[in-house]
Amino acid sequence: MDFQNTEIAYRLKSNRQLLKTLFIFRLISNSVLVSICTKIITWSLRFNLPISEILDKTVFKQFCAGIDEKDSIKIVKKLKKLNVNSYMHYASEGIESEKDFDNNFKIIIRTIDITKKNTALPFTVFKASSLGKFNLFEKKSAGSALSEIEKQLWNKTIDRIKSCCKHAARQNVRIFIDAEESWIQPIIDEIAESLMEKFNQEKTIIFTTLQMYRKDRLKYLNKIIQNSVKKKYKLGIKLVRGAYMEKENERAYKNGLPSPIFENKIQTDLSFNSALDLILLKIEKCDLFVGTHCEKSIKKILKWMKEKKIANGYSKIWFSQLFGMADHISFNLAFQGYQVVKYVPYGPIKEVVPYLIRRAEENTSVNSQLSKEIYLIKKEMKRRKFNAI
Ligand SMILES: Cc1cc2nc3c(=O)[nH]c(=O)nc-3n(C[C@H](O)[C@H](O)[C@H](O)COP(=O)(O)OP(=O)(O)OC[C@H]3O[C@@H](n4cnc5c(N)ncnc54)[C@H](O)[C@@H]3O)c2cc1C
Repeated sequence: MDFQNTEIAYRLKSNRQLLKTLFIFRLISNSVLVSICTKIITWSLRFNLPISEILDKTVFKQFCAGIDEKDSIKIVKKLKKLNVNSYMHYASEGIESEKDFDNNFKIIIRTIDITKKNTALPFTVFKASSLGKFNLFEKKSAGSALSEIEKQLWNKTIDRIKSCCKHAARQNVRIFIDAEESWIQPIIDEIAESLMEKFNQEKTIIFTTLQMYRKDRLKYLNKIIQNSVKKKYKLGIKLVRGAYMEKENERAYKNGLPSPIFENKIQTDLSFNSALDLILLKIEKCDLFVGTHCEKSIKKILKWMKEKKIANGYSKIWFSQLFGMADHISFNLAFQGYQVVKYVPYGPIKEVVPYLIRRAEENTSVNSQLSKEIYLIKKEMKRRKFNAI
């Protein structure tokens, strides 16, 4: 598998777009700059300073499909031309009002309906914390008692989550439940397991997400595999490394607790690969959706598929990368006939800022990956004899 074929990787990008991507990647590879810009953006938004235009012309266009579903569908169609599927996500974060949760609920239901009608969209997704108050997830995860008002709000939250999954099942649309911070994840796991048991009897509709940077996830994976066999439901797993490392480590440090995250990347990689081994061994009983930009992990799966003489387009294994990142992986995999899905986030600029900041911070912490992308873009510019650098 050649992920270095830049002609395939950047077929959708004009010279101008390549140059812009190069500029943004160079910008976010500078951790000091990212840290300063993050602070400026956060403050500007708080005081309503006109920052949206700058964001729109830079990181927003790179990592988000647009502000609404219409914008996203345009991107989805473009990707599909090169055999790359998508899943759309209204990536608004950090909201805390019941009105916003209701609004998010309506958007998720609408996205399920859009997904149903579009073959380029094999999945949809939601974040549990976008449907209810974060502190209620935290309290439920810690086993703390809720007040009467909190109980009512929690029931509403559960109703929204269940209704999304019920609607997805009725429409026969696969849906991911994203993994979030470890201190709200216990209750999300509990909900995800019960929904998989309910809706995954015939088909894998509900997919739970496992973050393999967590020290306890391999044990948990074993547990849910056993439970799914015992309770006779189909297991859907979205496997990722995990996106909240800095936040997790900071919180653990502040509370004087050991971090739930592995001490180094090597351990995370080992845990990710062990999870792959375990799932591939049970692939008859499990659907695997691998969300990663790590070539080594992907090559491990491809090698396994080849050894087992499994066709590239095998229906139980999906590969996914984020919109705006790792195009060399997505497009080269799709070119070879593997099932590829881009995560396509959208939303009003101000509301997707936490997502954008996460992407920028993540990219500074995985510098080697970013340098690889920069190298490949330059390689493609050279191939096109486009010498603007
Ligand atoms: C389609 C898709 C869906 C996703 N969904 C979710 C989700 O629901 N929840 C979620 O949390 N994330 C999600 N992510 C983000 C994902 O968890 C990673 O942050 C991101 O993909 C980068 O990881 P990678 O596998 O590409 O690996 P690489 O680029 O090889 O590795 C980077 C990752 O390794 C880990 N890591 C880096 N340094 C260290 C260290 N010093 N110690 C321990 N671990 C380290 C971190 O997890 C870091 O993100 C998703 C990603 C994709 C592509």
